[in-house]
Amino acid sequence: MKPYEKLLKDNRAWASEKTKEDPEYFSRLVQLQTPEFLWIGCSDSRVPANEITGTEPGEIFVHRNVANMVIHTDLNLLTVLDYAVRVLKVQHIIVCGHHGCGGIRAAMTNHDMGIANKWLRNIKDVYRFHRDEVDAIEEEQLKIDRMVELNVREQVMNLAKTSIIQRAWKHEQRPHLHGWVYDLKDGIIDPVCEMPAGSPLLDIYEYDDL
Ligand SMILES: [Zn+2]
Repeated sequence: MKPYEKLLKDNRAWASEKTKEDPEYFSRLVQLQTPEFLWIGCSDSRVPANEITGTEPGEIFVHRNVANMVIHTDLNLLTVLDYAVRVLKVQHIIVCGHHGCGGIRAAMTNHDMGIANKWLRNIKDVYRFHRDEVDAIEEEQLKIDRMVELNVREQVMNLAKTSIIQRAWKHEQRPHLHGWVYDLKDGIIDPVCEMPAGSPLLDIYEYDDL
């Protein structure tokens, strides 16, 4: 059996197991999705949103990219964010980074990564904002781990800087923004920051007439 054929075979087994446990499982999910959470995570195959949070299909709306970035020119991210906030009306948005992130590690080198340079440059900017602190850390692994945390904080801030979030904060007092870091070594998620609806921003980032 080819590797991809195993995926299809396991899919059949999973679907029949679910139906056996709960005959209404799929018919219920087909009706509608009302997730309470938007997850913005890394594409890394070791950090699957549902598995590590013990959630089921239907519970988390998911967007993943290299190093869980919130970049204001990323039409994909903005489309997901707008839909999650305006239509699904999620209550919480979680930006989840992870220790050992290859995207962060690559950004902290001088290697030419081709097309990815443009994406990773945003992480180099995070380093620039926190350069003194990061440079003071001697051990390479700890330096990367600190960058993972600082990057999550910066991406949560980037969410708050969007008019999508500010409009929802103003009119509906949601969503609550969270920055989390997942540890590959023990499977534990640690919260590193949060911004409840209405959190203050540096005023240059605040839009009027929303
Ligand atoms: Zn990663």
